[in-house]
Amino acid sequence: MNKVVLVRYGEIFLKGKNRKFFEDCLKNNIQNALLGLNCAVFKISGRFMVEGYNPKDEQRIINIIIKQAGVFSVSPATCIDTDKEQIIGLVKELTEDEVGTFKVVTNRADKTFQPNSMEFSRQLGGVILKNNNDLKVDVVNPEFVVNIDIRENKKTYIFTKTFMGVGGMPVGSAGKGLLLLSGGIDSPVAGFMMAKRGTKLQALHFHSFPYTSELARLKVEELAGKIADYNAGDLEIYMCPMTHYQEEINKNCRNIYNITLLRRAMFRIAERLCKEKGLQMIITGENLGQVASQTIESMTVVGNVVEDIQIMRPLVAFDKQEIIEVSKKIDTYEISIRPYEDCCTVFVPDTPVTKPRLENVIEEEKKLNFEELIDEAYSKIEVVTIKNS
Ligand code: ATP
Ligand code: MG
Repeated sequence: MNKVVLVRYGEIFLKGKNRKFFEDCLKNNIQNALLGLNCAVFKISGRFMVEGYNPKDEQRIINIIIKQAGVFSVSPATCIDTDKEQIIGLVKELTEDEVGTFKVVTNRADKTFQPNSMEFSRQLGGVILKNNNDLKVDVVNPEFVVNIDIRENKKTYIFTKTFMGVGGMPVGSAGKGLLLLSGGIDSPVAGFMMAKRGTKLQALHFHSFPYTSELARLKVEELAGKIADYNAGDLEIYMCPMTHYQEEINKNCRNIYNITLLRRAMFRIAERLCKEKGLQMIITGENLGQVASQTIESMTVVGNVVEDIQIMRPLVAFDKQEIIEVSKKIDTYEISIRPYEDCCTVFVPDTPVTKPRLENVIEEEKKLNFEELIDEAYSKIEVVTIKNS
């Protein structure tokens, strides 16, 4: 008898010839995430199995695996040799402390095992009921399911609990992206959404130290730690100072354009970093209509500064409430709502332009040494590596 964790994957199943690539990618990610926990990951028909671990680490292992994009669900199971009496004995043991309603589901890949699945489920149900008066059968809406998986290799897996994974596609299967990570609610969610689609992330954060505080920076690092759990390994954050650039626009340009000018500089720096690091896309938490800088006109004028890198805005059509729900699920909400200044809130005009015109913005940029200021900010980028938990 040994303890194992069964890992099911969802959407990968839809893949035809490429399926092996996605499976290998997910298996690698799971193996890496479990390094140090002394266990092995195997592929068995259409799923993975983790075994060899210390049973006291089981819940920790489950918590790690359900955060790997591509995982549909996870069940801790007990594996025994296929033997009717042994199965009955173990099922009694596993259910003796339970209360509530249940059903038994048998899956018999080994057709030499008798009786058939329906009959065996019925027999086991009878045994369970007799052994524990606190249980009742409910085949429609049971509180838990006793699953008996009789495999062809003469092994049987028995499990009663299933934990849902994040779904999506394994990280590393859909390119590499640079997440523009602020301290707000939206950008961590945008990063999670893209990691869930299979994109391996690095992050770029702009600060205006000393106008923005050291605490604001720590907040961003903490947010990055949460995202790192979904990123199949560490997450690098590039910290870029915008202080001098912001002082210059504030001094020289019409202040209704402050935000547009700042955002164009951010995107220009992001594109340069993508090219240097071999990243294929810029990812933002922008959301149509949410604030002045997120009208279609603003997004167009800002996006126009990027020449040949794709910009992904996974939250563009979300409602704020939907974004908040995801941020709570990934545990970033409470961190995001801490009230520190972001560089976008330093030097904000009372009435920022909501429908900027490109030619006017370019006129404003001519009042600055735009490229020199960008070079200067770029040269001061520092990198911090955030470990996953
Ligand atoms: P968020 O909640 O992500 O901060 P927001 O609703 O505050 O977004 P904006 O301030 O307009 O909206 O920012 C839009 C997007 O621009 C952010 O989602 C993020 O991707 C990027 N961004 C904003 N500020 C920064 C920053 N200081 N560093 C890096 N990226 C930023
Ligand atoms: Mg913000």
